[in-house]
Amino acid sequence: KLHNQVQELKGNIRVFCRVRPTLGDEATHAAEIRFPNTDGESTEIEFVGAADKSALGKETVKTHPFQFDKVFGPAAQNEHVFEEISQLVQSALDGYNVCIFCYGQTGSGKTHTMSSQDGMIPRAVHQIYAVAQSLKEKGWTYRMEGNFVEVYNENINDLLGRVDDLDKKKHEIRHDPKEQKTTITGIETVVLENPQQVNNILNHAQNTRSVAATAANERSSRSHSVFILKLIGTNSVTGQRSEGTLNLVDLAGSERLAHSQATGDRLKETQSINRSLACLGDVIAALGSGKEGAHIPYRNSKLTYLLQYSLGGNSKCLMFVMVSPMQAHLSESLTSLKFATKVN
Ligand code: ADP
Ligand code: MG
Repeated sequence: KLHNQVQELKGNIRVFCRVRPTLGDEATHAAEIRFPNTDGESTEIEFVGAADKSALGKETVKTHPFQFDKVFGPAAQNEHVFEEISQLVQSALDGYNVCIFCYGQTGSGKTHTMSSQDGMIPRAVHQIYAVAQSLKEKGWTYRMEGNFVEVYNENINDLLGRVDDLDKKKHEIRHDPKEQKTTITGIETVVLENPQQVNNILNHAQNTRSVAATAANERSSRSHSVFILKLIGTNSVTGQRSEGTLNLVDLAGSERLAHSQATGDRLKETQSINRSLACLGDVIAALGSGKEGAHIPYRNSKLTYLLQYSLGGNSKCLMFVMVSPMQAHLSESLTSLKFATKVN
């Protein structure tokens, strides 16, 4: 809009698929996956597997083809993945609201892609910082504010707050419809003076979660984490102002947990995960339908309510659907891919 060419998007929603590599001795149990169109831009992926039973009760081998805006195979590194989202990330400096999600079952590579020390969060912060520096000569100065929250059981927790407050301190989402601004009450904001500070943020968040749960991975796979970077720019030459937000979301594991097997706290967790992921799908699908004046059910979950102004209107959205390469995960992978096709 202001100083950077953002490629025309089909609607404002794109879906990228990423298959992680097999780890250790997993290779012997890998599913058959084909990448039919590998001449440069890969956009297709096929899973081969016996997912259906024929009318005669015999297992039939079937090919399941899917098409996305981009497909990353097991050899793709985070560096390469980031190249493909770097323009989108930078558009937050132009005042756009951007949301990037990682969707998929536990173990499919969401955290590796999004919130690891090598993932999209630190890469995005470094890139934005570098671009902001280069815009100084055009008169722009930016203030970068970071928040990191978790949505767990439809409650918001501050991953940058005190460990003792987790699950206890209540945080509310406040929308200002006039300014189209969202705030969360009582959370810590880190003003990023340099890009290295993102490491402290990631470490703090990781600590907060691991102290709170006996098994940290367990907790993180049962909640959504949302890294929020607010970019407030002012131009001393032209007097222009811009305010954009980048939201990087590592979603809870999408695996279908049978309600019948879960009880108590587990049942409550399972229900809130299933409901909020379904709601996210509904909201993105409704936005992508392009129907003007369509009702968008933001209020049906905390996550979509929190991200309301970053999903609708003048905003950009990208979803990574992460898939495991394992035969044992085939059925879950197909479910994820179908979900992602629906929102595309
Ligand atoms: P999720 O967050 O979806 O549960 P993780 O990101 O924790 O999954 O990934 C599961 C495991 O696979 C981790 O040990 C992670 O380091 C590894 N992994 C995931 N994606 C990749 C990749 N592209 N390259 C190498 N290792 C990966
Ligand atoms: Mg994870």
